[in-house]
Amino acid sequence: MTGKGHRLSTFSIVLGATGSPLAATLSLLGSTFPDSSEYLIFGKRRNRYHRRYTHWFIPWAALAYTCFKRVGWIVPRLSALVDGRGAHYDIWACVGFWFMGCVLHIVEDAWCGTVPFLRPWKRDIGIHVFHMSKKIGEMSRGEKNFVHCCVLIAIFSFCFRFLTVEKFLSFFKILWSNL
Ligand SMILES: [Zn+2]
Repeated sequence: MTGKGHRLSTFSIVLGATGSPLAATLSLLGSTFPDSSEYLIFGKRRNRYHRRYTHWFIPWAALAYTCFKRVGWIVPRLSALVDGRGAHYDIWACVGFWFMGCVLHIVEDAWCGTVPFLRPWKRDIGIHVFHMSKKIGEMSRGEKNFVHCCVLIAIFSFCFRFLTVEKFLSFFKILWSNL
């Protein structure tokens, strides 16, 4: 998946799941790290190790889990970070969502190729839901569709967060009585 695809879909998934733009932004920042860390660690030999050690979900998931567990699974609040009191909880939650971005990167890569499962040197799980474009950095039609689906689902779940079933039904009642 392209960097743009990773950033957009990760931001959407986290925004939809948590309703927090802050958590979504932090995941977006982490969402390209598994790829960029390959340049940092392997440099020119990157291709030989592409999607192997850096794309092993277990360490990223363990780091995210440790951060979330430490703070009792809270979503970071900007107000607490600005206020400063008890902000260490929110800082750890921020770090957790950054690592969550790395985990989601790997999940997204597994949708268009293969990533390691239990052995970090072997790429052995993945499904080809869509194919990548041959041109580096270009989003294929399938990738665009995947990203659009993520964005749409996120918008819906974000809106429904503020909408209870009761409010939803009364909207139709009002609509009906005004027809
Ligand atoms: Zn990748």
